Amino acid sequence: MSKISGSCLCGAVKYSAPVEPVVVALCHCTHCQRQSGAAFSVNVGIPKGSLQFSAGQPATYQDTGGSGLPVYRHFCRDCGSPIFSDVVASPQLDWLKAGTLTDTSWVKPAVIVWCESAQPWVAYPEGVPRFARNPPAAA
Ligand SMILES: [Zn+2]
Ligand SMILES: [Zn+2]
Repeated sequence: MSKISGSCLCGAVKYSAPVEPVVVALCHCTHCQRQSGAAFSVNVGIPKGSLQFSAGQPATYQDTGGSGLPVYRHFCRDCGSPIFSDVVASPQLDWLKAGTLTDTSWVKPAVIVWCESAQPWVAYPEGVPRFARNPPAAA
């Protein structure tokens, strides 16, 4: 089974993608904090458009990213779980919410972004590059 397989909390939305994850990014931006209800989001970058839905179709909220470009935040309309974000400023990748994966055992952060708005008590994993906002070459 693909690493990229999972569902929302209620199970109305189920997805998979026959791809390898590209990167795992922890995002401390205020929008991820608000949307997730948590201190930060764990976002898995996967090739854009590769998610296939075997059940349900997520609803979409059009947000605006730090770039000023749209961020389409897709979530379960029944239970509200965030599923993935289509960030227009990152044309190669969609950003899947790691907590929705069936198997999270392989998830390891490779980059940490938007540290300027991180909660002051957050402890960062050692040896993972950190950026105040987005890294120079990604979104
Ligand atoms: Zn749901
Ligand atoms: Zn964010």
